[in-house]
Order: sequence, then C-alpha cells, then structure tokens
Amino acid sequence: MIRWIKASGAGILAAGVCLGAAAWSDARELAGRRAELQREARLIASLVAAQMQGGLEKHLTAMRQMANLYASSRRVGEGQFRSYAANTLKLNPACLNIAYVDPALRIQRSYPLEAARWRPVFDARSHPPGYETVVRADRARKPMLSRPMQLFGGTWGFVLAVPVVSGSHLLGSLVGACRGQEYFDSLVSREVSERYEQVVLDAGTPIFMSDLPGSSDPSVAPVSEKFVIGGAGWEVRVSPQEHVVRDRLTAGRPVFWAMAWLFSVTFGALAGGAALWAVGMSNRLQTQRAALVEARTRLDGAQEQLIQAEKMTALGDLVAGVAHEINNPLTGIVGYTQLLIQRRLPPSVHRHLETISAEGQRIVKIVRNLLSFARKHAPEKRLIDLNEVVEKTLELKAYHLRSNQIKVVEELAPGLPKTLLDFHQMQQVLINLLNNAEQAMVESGRGHTIRLATGVVEGHIHLCVSDDGPGIASDILERVLEPFFTTKKEGEGTGLGLSLCNGIVQEHGGRIRVESPPGEGATFIVELPIQQKAASIDPIPEPFAPKTVEPLRVLVVDDETSVQEFLTELLGMGGHRVDTASDVPEAIAKIAAGAHDLIIVDLKMPNGTGRDVYAAVLELRPRLARRLIFITGQATGDDMADFLAATGNELVLKPCNAGEIEDAMARAARN
Ligand code: ADP
Repeated sequence: MIRWIKASGAGILAAGVCLGAAAWSDARELAGRRAELQREARLIASLVAAQMQGGLEKHLTAMRQMANLYASSRRVGEGQFRSYAANTLKLNPACLNIAYVDPALRIQRSYPLEAARWRPVFDARSHPPGYETVVRADRARKPMLSRPMQLFGGTWGFVLAVPVVSGSHLLGSLVGACRGQEYFDSLVSREVSERYEQVVLDAGTPIFMSDLPGSSDPSVAPVSEKFVIGGAGWEVRVSPQEHVVRDRLTAGRPVFWAMAWLFSVTFGALAGGAALWAVGMSNRLQTQRAALVEARTRLDGAQEQLIQAEKMTALGDLVAGVAHEINNPLTGIVGYTQLLIQRRLPPSVHRHLETISAEGQRIVKIVRNLLSFARKHAPEKRLIDLNEVVEKTLELKAYHLRSNQIKVVEELAPGLPKTLLDFHQMQQVLINLLNNAEQAMVESGRGHTIRLATGVVEGHIHLCVSDDGPGIASDILERVLEPFFTTKKEGEGTGLGLSLCNGIVQEHGGRIRVESPPGEGATFIVELPIQQKAASIDPIPEPFAPKTVEPLRVLVVDDETSVQEFLTELLGMGGHRVDTASDVPEAIAKIAAGAHDLIIVDLKMPNGTGRDVYAAVLELRPRLARRLIFITGQATGDDMADFLAATGNELVLKPCNAGEIEDAMARAARN
C-alpha cells in the first residue's frame, strides 16, 4: 500500500514538474510573442507617421508654390488660381478646398466651392480654430496647421494656412481645408488598418481614429511616434487589434498544451513505474539485508556455541581423566577402609575408620557427579525422581554458590512421583537456571538467595527456581526464551542458554514459564508431565542376596595394584579363589588356561581394553561371556555405552565398595 502511495506521489510529482516546465515555457513564448507584436506596432507607427508627414509636406509644398506665385506676380487671375488649386487638390485628394484670403481674412478666391461657404470657417467667434490658424500663420510668416475643427457642412477636418509674403509685406494667405477622415484613410493601407488600431493626436487631442470594429488588446501597450509640422505636434499611436493579439498569442498553443499533457502523463506514468520498481527493489534489498544480518547473528551465535561446546568437551575430557586418576587410589582407600571396619578393632580406631569411610564416600559422590556431568551420551530417559536431579546438581554447584555468598533454600516435595527424564539433560537445565540466577545477582549486587522448590501442581511436576536478584524487565520477559536473546555484554552471553533449556523441557513434553513481578527477582518454572509408561527401560536392580553366591574361581584383571589387591582380599574374605592379571595379554593367557568361574575386568588398561578381554572370552570360553563384570574409573562414551548395552553385562563404577562388587557378582553368577 505504502509502495503504491510512494509511486503515485513520484508519478504526480514528475507530471507536475513537466506541466510546470511547460507552463514556464508557454509564459516565455507568450512574452516573446507580445514583444514581437510591440516591435511590429512600432514599425507600423513609424511607417504611418512617415506617410502622414510626407503627405502633409507634399500638400505644404504645393501650397507654398501657390503662395510663391501670388507673391511674385502680385495679381493672380481667377483662371490662374483655379488651375493651380486644381493641380494642388489632385496631389492631395483628401483636400476639400483652397481659398485665398487677404490680410483682413476676407475671402478673395475659393476653389472649387464658392467663397461664401468658407466664411464660417474664419469666423473668430463660431470657429476659432480656423481663424486662429490663419492669424498665427500671418504673424509668424510660416505655414500653420489648425487643430481639428468643423469644416463646411459639419465635416470634421483641419486647415493648412500658408502666408503669402512679399519681402516683409503680408499680401494674404492661402488656406487649404482637408477632411480628416479621408486624409488619414488615404495614408494608411487597409491591411494595416485591419490589424492595428491607430489614433492620431494633435497636442494630445485625438484627431483621427481608425473606425474598424474591434478594439486594441490591453496586454500589448500602444506605441507612439511623434512629428512636428506646421507648428503642430502630431502623434501617431498604434496598437494591435484584439483579434490580432489573440491569433498571435494562441497560435499553436492547443497543440503545444496537448503535447505537454501527453508528455507529462507519460513521464508521470514512467516515473511512477520507476518509483514502484525502485521502492520494491529497496524493500527487497532491505529484507535481504535484514536476513543477512540475522543469518550473521545466528552464525556468530552458532560459532560461539561451537566454541562453548568445544570448551565443554575439553573440560569433560579433563574431568574424566582426573576422575579416573582419583578413582583407582580411591577404590583402595574406600575398599580397605570398609574391610578394616569389619575387623575387630578398638572402638576409637573403629570410629576413626568410620570417619575415613564417610569422607571417602563423600569424595566418591563428588567424583561420580563430576563424571556423570562430563559423560557424553545419547539422550536416555529413565524413571527418575526430579528431587534427585536437584540434589545431585546442587552438590556440583554448592561450592560455587557458597563462594559467591548465595544461600540456597531447598523446598523439595517429599514423595515426588518419578517420571521419564534424561538425567543429564535435566541437570543441564538446572545448571543453566542456577548459573543465570547467580550471574544476575552477582552482576547487579542485588539478592543473595536462590529458592529451589518442587511439587505436583494439576498433575504436572513443577520445579521452581526463584531468586531475589534484579528480576527481568516486563518488556523483555517474553523474549528471554528466544534463541540469541541476551542482555549480557558481547562475549559474556550467547542468548542460547534458556532456549536450549526450553528445547530440552519441550522434548520431555513440558514447558518453561518465567515470572518476574517488579522488585521480586525472577522465577523460572519448569513444568514436566508425569510419564511412567516406559518404566521397563530402567530395570530395577534386584536386591542383593550375598548368600546365594557360591565360592567361585575369580580372575581379576586390572593394571592398578591397589585395586587388584583390594579385590583379592575382598573376594578372599567371601570365600572365593582369586587369580589376577595386570594387562590384556596376561589375562587372555590365563583365560585360555581355563579354570575360572567369573572374570572382573577393568575397561581401560595398557596393551588393550576390557573389550579385547571380552572378545577373547567369547572365543575361548563362550559360556563365561555373561559372567564377565566390567569395572571402570572413567566416564563411558557413547560407543562404550552401546557396547555395554549390547553385552548386557554388569558394570561397576570405581571407586566401588564391597556391597556393589558382591551385588554384581551375585547377578553375574546367575548367568
Ligand atoms: P545468556 O545467559 O547467554 O544471556 P540466556 O538464554 O541464558 O542467555 O538468558 C537470556 C537473558 O535472560 C539473559 O541475558 C538475562 O537478561 C535474562 N535472564 C535469565 N535469567 C535471569 C535471572 N535469573 N535474572 C535476571 N535476568 C535473567
């Protein structure tokens, strides 16, 4: 929608710009045409003025010649006057009449009209212009033109008076009367009159106006041309007729505007199309950019995760190695302590041995927890009590939390129903939640208690991990479970912890909820369904019945002398005959020699593994294959776990106590 609005805007703008440019060019063209019209009018005005001046000059010259004749011949006969006057009138068809008046303005001769017709023309009272003109001419001894005046019979025109002077003596005046309209009409061609309105003024008073229909156009100013003749200042004003201006100004404009509109609409449509394409392209680029940024963020997160996973693998290997090294001597310590406790010793020694045994068991627990945390294995759900996961995890985290002065309050519901859980995955979830709470409290310097509560709510097992730390702002509460969402500094948080936890819990058919009322810290609630259907996955070990184990011939294969010796003594006490081997070749040689009822073999040894011993037993003494007990001080990897599952044989973890060994022997002896 916005794309279309933008495109339409661009189209309208482009069309508007085109129309604006067309209007500007049109205005310039009009101004040019007006200027052109004005230039033409100026030309016409000067032409008309020149013609008018020329005509008057001609008339004047003819009148002067007559005046010269009068001045030179003193007595001019009637015939002579008429012939001259007729010739003069021929030269100037607009001239009505020529008269000769004496200095007292009495008409002496007149042609072609009788003298009586002239009389009113020189009446100082009724026709002052005629009278005054002749008087001015006589006084000045120069030809003079009258102002517009009424001639004979009411005709409007003007007179030209030329004094007849002999020496300095005034003899009289020759006066020519011209009809204004005819005079001017004869000077201006019809073609010009049709196109231009002309006004002739004498000292500002109009004496002639073209009488054609139509009026001048006010948009083109009139131009004027002035000249002086016979003491009169005449002005010719010319302006183009309205229709001329209209024709000139509108010529070609409809076509121009049609083209301009067509071009504007086309250009607008093209610009709109281009804008639509550009906006679409820009949107696509933005989307691609956002996708790239997201992909980059995910890649960075995945890389971080990989680095983290690699670190964890290295840590797991380290822990497993250390645990293995501790387990062998620990087996001796714990085992011998138990053997000693069974002897009759002074009570104080017995008490000390009890303490050593209890502390030894504590170390055993810690090492086993470390091992189970480091163990790499495929998801494996068993019927487990969630409280057990909580307790084992707390044992792992206890030291760390204590060193940060964080108190842990446990409110674990007794008799929590077991459910199908992957112990290690659930441990990972809890460790993540504890780590987050711990980090939030340490970083903010707020809070000092973590509360762990379990229980059953509406048929679901609940695990609540609450802290009294800074809590989570309501605007990000919804987002904390999203992958890559973190508020921690770069390098400190990946934003994957909670999303992994959520994934694990969802895989168990449950969910994680987060609550953080303002000022009350954060609470993560893990809800798990109660699932017990696949209980057969986790076979419940049969109770130990030591009395059922008959004395057996047992081969103990272990490279650790302390373990060998402890097992020899333990089994000896149980009435068994014990043979030992310190590596695989020795063990195979002894198995080949025969005479054993049961074999206890360490999984990891120099020159081969427990698997090699098992393979040899399968080959040499197949009936003994199910009577082989594996012991190990190290975490079992996925392939080893698969191997053990395939054989179905017993596995005892070092450090082991007498009970565990006897249990395993009792079960193996039944095979
Ligand atoms: P990370 O710890 O790498 O940031 P998580 O997914 O574990 O990734 O956590 C996401 C975000 O949730 C954290 O950055 C933090 O802002 C918030 N958060 C999680 N647990 C808590 C808590 N207990 N108190 C306050 N904030 C928490």
